[in-house]
Amino acid sequence: MMNIKNMHAKIGDKEILKGLDLELQKGKIHVIMGTNGAGKSTLSKAIVGHYDVEVTQGEIIYKGKNLLEMEPEERALEGVFLSFQNPVEIPGVNNAYFLRNALNAKEKHHGQKETNAAEFLKLMRKHIEQLGMKPDMISRALNDGFSGGEKKRNEILQMEILQPEVIILDEIDSGLDIDALKSVSEGINRMKNGERTFLVITHYSRILDYIHPDYVHILQDGKIVKTGGPELVKILEAEGYQAVQKDL
Ligand code: ADP
Ligand code: MG
Repeated sequence: MMNIKNMHAKIGDKEILKGLDLELQKGKIHVIMGTNGAGKSTLSKAIVGHYDVEVTQGEIIYKGKNLLEMEPEERALEGVFLSFQNPVEIPGVNNAYFLRNALNAKEKHHGQKETNAAEFLKLMRKHIEQLGMKPDMISRALNDGFSGGEKKRNEILQMEILQPEVIILDEIDSGLDIDALKSVSEGINRMKNGERTFLVITHYSRILDYIHPDYVHILQDGKIVKTGGPELVKILEAEGYQAVQKDL
């Protein structure tokens, strides 16, 4: 589905990703775990083309093209979605207006009929209810004053409405209480359809009780140093990161 080869990337002058290889399989859930500062968020930003990150080497093959040569908005239109570790607050931009525009842009890109305001409101209401969000999230400004859990639920709402093909979730579980964690996990599980690919970045194994990964990768010092199945999480829980990291 997506093949990342020998990726090097820096933030400012500092090299963070140092020859990272990762192959994401269609329809599978991949989990990336790694200590703080390992480069997990840098990887997610590099994939979507975030301006913080400069990719200096390597390629990402997606749908037969090098994703790195596409503009960030084009990557999104082609089905790549990132839920940010720290979603940005955008005062003055209405949440529903923002999301409908994003959906309409995608529909237009794929030559589909645009969802009109009434249809969209119905759709958004359905998802808001499903996710246990407050109805006023429809009319409030995007993430403006949202609590941590509300922001994460709103990211899942965007995911469910935009129906992406590759879904990257950067610490979607951090700071969530148990109810929010369940709602968010249910949202993720609703999106699984055997076609979509997930890259779930986390450093807690808690969310893995609700979503069941096919592959687990350990990111250390800008590289994937180990790949396995869910058994890696068990080792990690019992013995800590030393047990799954490489000696550097
Ligand atoms: P992770 O998500 O695995 O915790 P990050 O990818 O966020 O790690 O960060 C990797 C490294 O890059 C860290 O050492 C971090 O301090 C550094 N870094 C991240 N963002 C910036 C930035 N905007 N400016 C300088 N250094 C940064
Ligand atoms: Mg991070």
